[in-house]
Amino acid sequence: MPMTPKDVVAFAQEKQCAFVDYKFLDFVGIWQHFTTPIREFSEDIFEEGIGFDGSSIRGWQPIHNSDMLIIPDPTTAKIDPFVEQTTLSLICNIVDPITREGYSRDPRFIARKAEAYLKSTGIADTVYFGPEPECFVFDDVRYASGPNESFYAVDSVEGIWNTGRQEYPNLGYKPRHKEGYFPCAPTDSMIDLRNEMMLVMQEVGLHIECGHHEVATGGQIEIDMRFDSLLKMGDNLQWFKYIIKNVAFRNGKTATFMPKPIFGDNGSGMHCHQSLWKDGKNLFAGDGYGGLSKLAMYYMGGIIKHAKALCAFTNPSTNSYKRLVPGYEAPVNLAYSNRNRSASLRIPVTNNEKAKRIEYRTPDPAANGYLAFAAMLMAGLDGIENKIDPGQPLDKDIYGLSPEELKDIPAVAGTLEEALNSLRDDHAFLLKGDVFTEDVIDMWISYKKEAEVDRVRMRPSPEEFALYFDC
Ligand code: GLN
Ligand code: MG
Ligand code: MG
Ligand code: MG
Repeated sequence: MPMTPKDVVAFAQEKQCAFVDYKFLDFVGIWQHFTTPIREFSEDIFEEGIGFDGSSIRGWQPIHNSDMLIIPDPTTAKIDPFVEQTTLSLICNIVDPITREGYSRDPRFIARKAEAYLKSTGIADTVYFGPEPECFVFDDVRYASGPNESFYAVDSVEGIWNTGRQEYPNLGYKPRHKEGYFPCAPTDSMIDLRNEMMLVMQEVGLHIECGHHEVATGGQIEIDMRFDSLLKMGDNLQWFKYIIKNVAFRNGKTATFMPKPIFGDNGSGMHCHQSLWKDGKNLFAGDGYGGLSKLAMYYMGGIIKHAKALCAFTNPSTNSYKRLVPGYEAPVNLAYSNRNRSASLRIPVTNNEKAKRIEYRTPDPAANGYLAFAAMLMAGLDGIENKIDPGQPLDKDIYGLSPEELKDIPAVAGTLEEALNSLRDDHAFLLKGDVFTEDVIDMWISYKKEAEVDRVRMRPSPEEFALYFDC
C-alpha cells in the first residue's frame, strides 16, 4: 500500500528521525535538496508545501517570478542511508504557489502527465521501463597520488587507463582491452563495492536483479534493477545514481555516468527495456517477428521515426555522441533485430509472454530519466496511433556493413546540436496531452545549446593541441 501523509508522520516517529530531507529535481535531472529539523515537519506540509527560491535552479524561473513551492510525495518516503543522523527523505513535486498547479518544467510533472496521457488514449494503462545504467568507477583524485591517477583515464588507445584502483607498473589482473565482461576477482576489482551498492539499494526498496563488471577496462560496472512503471522508475533511477555515487565516495572512489569517459574503449549506455500493459496483459507479446505483437512493431516504428529528436532527451550531453560511434556496442543505426546488439532496437529472446519487451539501446545514463522515459513513450504511442511501420529487421552485424549497404538505414543524431535541431523540427508528438509544452521544448533547446554545446564548442580540446600545436 502506498504511504499516506499520516503513515509518513508515523513512520518518521517510529524511526526516530531527527531531520527531514526534501529532494527535488532541477531541469537537467540532478537532485537538489534541503533539510529541516523534524519538529518543523507535520502532515500539513503535504497540503501546504514549502516555499523556496526557484530562480537559482538550472533552467528554471527568471528572477522576477521566482517563488516556487515543493509538495512532497508521501509515497516516496524512505530513510536516507547516507546521513549520519536518522533522516526521513521525501521526493517532491514542484508547484506554482499561485495556481497550485504542477510546474511545467518539473521533470517529475512531465512524467506524471505522460502516465496520465497513456491512460487517456485507452491503448494501455501501464508502461514499464527497465533501464540498464552503466558507469565507471575511478580512484577519487583526492586520494590518488602518483602518475597513474584516474585523472588520466581518458584514452585507452594510447594505453592510458585506470582499473579503478591505484596502479603501479606490472600490477597483474587488469581486465584486458574490451575483456572486462566478466572475469572473476581479482581481475574484477569491483565486486565488494558493487555488493555494497546493491545492499544499500535494497535497503531503500529498489528491486535489484544483478550486478557485474562491464566490458570496458577502467572499472566499468552495471547494476540492473527490475522493471517498474514510468514515474516510479524515474524515482528509482534518482536513488540508483545517488547510491552509486555515495557508496563510491565513502570508499575513496568516484563514479561517473558520463557516457564516454575513455577514448577507444566502450562507453556507458543505459539500454531501456520497455513494454505496454493493459488489464495485467502484456500488449507487446504476439506472434509476429521475435514474438512481438503488431502494436509493439508500431511502437518501434515511432521510436525509429522520432529517434533523432528523442536523442535530445535520451542522449542529452555533448559527450553522449562520443559513445554513439561504431565498434563499441553502442548503436549508431536505427534498425531492429532479435539478436543483433549493433542494432538500436533489440528484441530479447524469451518464451515468457510476460517478459516480451523491446530494448532500446541508444539512451545513455546522462539522461534525465523522467524526461527520457516520457519522450520514448510518446514516440512509441505516436507510432501506434499512426501505425508507423518500422521496416524490415536487420539481422546482420551493422558495424560490418559497407557504406553502400548502410545508405538506406537511418542513423541516430551525430552531435548534441543535431539532436536539439531535430527536436526543434520534430516535437508535435511530445505535445499531445500537454505532456511536454512548447516552453519546455524551447527551454531545453536553449539551455542545452548555451550551457553545454557552446561551452564545449568554444574551448580548445587536448586533441586539438596534438593536431595543431606544431602547425
Ligand atoms: N557499454 C555498451 C553501450 O554503450 C553496452 C554493453 C553491453 O551492455 N553489452 O551501450
Ligand atoms: Mg545489461
Ligand atoms: Mg551492459
Ligand atoms: Mg542491454
